[in-house]
This record gives sequence, C-alpha cells and structure tokens, in this order.
Amino acid sequence: MCFRANVEIQESTASNPVDCMKYVIVTGGVLSGLGKGVTASSIGVLLKSAGLRVTAVKIDPYLNSDAGTMSPFEHGEVFVLDDGGEVDLDLGNYERFLDVCLTSENNITTGKVYDNVIQKERRGDYLGKTVQVIPHITNEIQEWIERVAHIPSDGNGKVPDACVIELGGTVGDIESAPFIEALRQFQFRVGQDNVCFVHVSLIPVMGPVGEQKTKPTQHTVKDLRGLGINPHMLVCRSQSPLIDETRQKVSAFCHVPPEAVISAHDASNIYQVPIMLDSQGVAGMLSERLGFKLPSKRPMLERWKVMADHVDSLEDAKEVHIATVGKYTGLSDSYLSVIKALQHSSFKVNRKLVIDWIESTELDEETAGTDPEAHAAAWELLKAADGILVPGGFGIRGIEGKIKAAEYARENGVPFLGVCLGLQIATIEFCRNVLGLERANSTEFDEDTPNPAVVFMPEISKTHMGGTMRLGTKPTPFLLDDCKMRRLYGGVDYVNERHRHRYEVNPELIGQIESAGLKYVGKDETGERCEIMELEGHPYFVGTQYHPEFKSRPDKPSPPYLGLLKASVGIEV
Ligand code: GLN
Repeated sequence: MCFRANVEIQESTASNPVDCMKYVIVTGGVLSGLGKGVTASSIGVLLKSAGLRVTAVKIDPYLNSDAGTMSPFEHGEVFVLDDGGEVDLDLGNYERFLDVCLTSENNITTGKVYDNVIQKERRGDYLGKTVQVIPHITNEIQEWIERVAHIPSDGNGKVPDACVIELGGTVGDIESAPFIEALRQFQFRVGQDNVCFVHVSLIPVMGPVGEQKTKPTQHTVKDLRGLGINPHMLVCRSQSPLIDETRQKVSAFCHVPPEAVISAHDASNIYQVPIMLDSQGVAGMLSERLGFKLPSKRPMLERWKVMADHVDSLEDAKEVHIATVGKYTGLSDSYLSVIKALQHSSFKVNRKLVIDWIESTELDEETAGTDPEAHAAAWELLKAADGILVPGGFGIRGIEGKIKAAEYARENGVPFLGVCLGLQIATIEFCRNVLGLERANSTEFDEDTPNPAVVFMPEISKTHMGGTMRLGTKPTPFLLDDCKMRRLYGGVDYVNERHRHRYEVNPELIGQIESAGLKYVGKDETGERCEIMELEGHPYFVGTQYHPEFKSRPDKPSPPYLGLLKASVGIEV
C-alpha cells in the first residue's frame, strides 16, 4: 500500500523502479560528530547501487533560516547549492557521494519551518485554529520532507525512488523534539513498509583490555524508543570492529536483531564506509525492509570499491604538498569542500595529498608580531610546497599574509590557485607590485583606499547579511578560444559554477591590469564582472571568483583544482 499525500506521482525510470518513495531516516545518539552524515551518504550509495534514484534531506534543528550567517569557526564551511542556498556542509557530502544537485529546500531548519507556519497563520490559512507545535509544526515538517523528496536531483529530471533523511543533533535535544515527533508520525503517513529508521551510536572502548562498552548505546536507544521510534538498524561507531559479544548485548538491550547491529569501525578512508556497511548485509536488509529488489550484480558498487582501494593505495605514493593559506586553518571542517576538491584531484594525479595549512597572519611580519619562530616556520612551509592555494574568506584578518603568498607564487613560478577571496588577493597583489599602485586594496579591508582594486558590488545589500550575497550558479563564458582554464574544462564555451561573494574586481582597473599580463579570461554574461583569472607566462597562476570546489566529485575533480595539482606535480596544463 502506498501513501503519498498531495504529491503528484510520476513514473520512475530508474533501472530498479520501486512502487513508491522509500525513506531511510538517520538519527544519532550519544554525541555529535560521529559521522552521521557519512553514514547517511553511504546508505544512499547502497540504495543507488541497487538501481534506485536517491535524493537526500538534511534537517538542522537550529533557529537560523540557513547556514549563511553562521561562522565557519563554529559550524564548519557554508556549502553553496546551485540555487544559491547556503546550507549545512552535510549537503556537500550528499552531493559528492550521490552525484546529485540538491536545492536549498533539501536543508530543513527550525527557522524555515517556523517562518512558513507563521506566514500561513498571518495569511489566515489555519481558519481560526490555535496554531501549535503539534500538529501545525509537525505537519509542516512532514509535508516539507515529502515534497522535497520528490524533487528530481540527479540531472535527469526524474522523481527519485528513495530519500535519505538525516536529522542533525542528538536524540534527546530539546531542539530536535518536534522533528522526532514529526518523523514518528511520518511512518504512518507514508506507510511503515516504506520507512527504515537507522540510529547511529557510539561504542566507546575502555580499560586495559579495550572493552567495548554498550551502555551509551543502550541509553540513546531507550531515549529514541521513549519518543516512539523503534530503530530498525543500529550503526555503531567504534575504533575496532564490533565483537560478537558486543553485538549480542546491543541487540538484547536495544530490541534490534543482532544482524541489524552494524559495526562502523574506523575506516582507512571514507569511501570504504559503503563497502563496510555492504559487507555486513546492510543493502540486503534495506531491500527486505523497504521492498525493493537487490540485483545480484551491482557494478556501481564494484566501481566504488575500486575507487576506495585506489585511495588507500595512494598512502604509499609520492607526496604532493599544497600550502593552503587561510585563517580557519585549525579547523579542517571550515574548508571541507576545498579539501575534498584537492583530494579528488590528487586521486587523478596518483599522489598522496599533503595539505600544509598556513595561518596567513603568520606569513606577515607585522601580524606575526611577537612570534618570529611561527613566522619563519610559516615561510619555510610555504617555500617547500609544490603548489599554493588561497581559498575563500571574509574580513581583514590575515589579508596581508595572503597577499605575500600570492606575490611569492607569482614571482617564483609556483603553481597558484586563488578562489573567490583568493582571486581578489591576487588582483590586489598585482596592482600593488606590478602596476605600482602601492595602497591597492579591497574596499572590504580599507574603505578609503586611494586604489580600490576590489569593490563592493552595486546590487548587494548593505544592511542585511542573510542570503544577500551574489549566490549560486551563474554561467561564465570564456572570452579566449584557448587558455589554460578553458582547456582544463574540456574546451567548453562557458562554465556553470557556484558563487558566494559581495565584492568584485574593480571594472575601472581591468584594462590596466590586463595590459600588464593578468588576464580575465572568463567574465559574467554582461562581460563586465571578472570571473576567471590567468597570468601570462606563468606555469599556473589562476583564480576564480566562483567556488569551483562545490561541484567537485571523487571521479570528476574540479578542473581548476585538478589544474593546480597537475601543475604542482610538473604536468603541463
Ligand atoms: N569577502 C569576499 C567577498 O565578499 C570574498 C568572499 C569569498 O571568498 N567567498 O567578495
């Protein structure tokens, strides 16, 4: 029996069509940061390997409307979608693992849900009723999930067959309570046979003999069951594989059959996680629970395994060092997509990637201040690198150090990629040191600079921060028949990449900059806004105003990043 309230059903043309939408709901317990996102993405890979079209929804129970206003220090990178949605970085995991393009609607937050309900109340949609968390908020959540699950996401315009829903936070948090309640009700809305609840938990290892402790898992499952949800599968994060005794104990205390207690022990790389889950029968259990056929051969999973093993094999390969000059360098989550794009590119050039993080304040003598040792160490790292990357960023801190890194790369023929802020930095450096505009700067860092090399874009709001940047995918036509970046992109006429910025290269200076050799080989459709930069006579000194990292895939690395890696290992681009 198929329940699909208010949703127009289109026929699926996946290789393994299902009778109606299947939902896998992933919750988490004990503590955050257990890898719920990777688990949920890996389950998506298994569903896809069975021939289903798969999409994903991430629920973030915070009050912000979206992640756009959140600090990367606190919350990791802000991921940007095609439609300009500024969302949680887990959406990036889904896009990369499942090779889909999601919409901002695929990230549900408490802020968005309440905003919708309040707007409906103001319109009078609730016909005089008292508007309450139950049923109005919980209904809104369910309608939202069901609607979004049906949005085509794999580029073929077809409705998905399955949707993986990840609930952020841990079960028991006050914030997530309405979502848990909505998901509990949801199983009856769409039919229990179409829903599989997966709970991700932790099995800590304690004591001299390394005993696997089950109590935290017992408690979190008790909490979840107390809220009316019986998990069908438990994914247990642990350092080493679960021993049989642990599995039996978890099964006995948590009301889950032993074969549905899955060991998610530390893996050599994240691409091994779907393989690890599959080897414990997860795909088979999903097919039984949700009623779809599991083909005897799954070529996609075989290819996936080849990729995962290739990544392992690179551990013994020659290293390639990329110095990444930023200001959130202590927190790799802040640059997650950048790291992924570099990793994907390293798979293609068959090198072991080493990212040398350089805190940009330490490159600049003035800001390194009282720490000359850190200053010297930062320069040593920069000079020893095979390539240099200046990623995106906001605010003045560390700017001078980044400018010095760009100068070093330009003058010494070191491969360089500047992304968004990185392109702006390279432009400022060029204006200062090649054009002789000594005080060249961005008006973001010096409002009164006499040489504004980078300026505020006229259409951007000066009063509202949320969702007001130049955001999302915009086409960038190439202006030259032949240039490095066009070759890297396969000779296409234009690229479609994702943006997130407020400032741009000053249109009034473009002529002067270009005649000195720094060319903007791609501009926006008006032909005025600089998008892609290349320096003449340098092995690889390029920049993009957009963020190419957001569209990188393990088997299709982002071309500008691949170019950086190629140039860094000595392959001509
Ligand atoms: N701060 C710069 C701007 O707003 C760069 C933004 C970025 O790197 N994402 O234009």
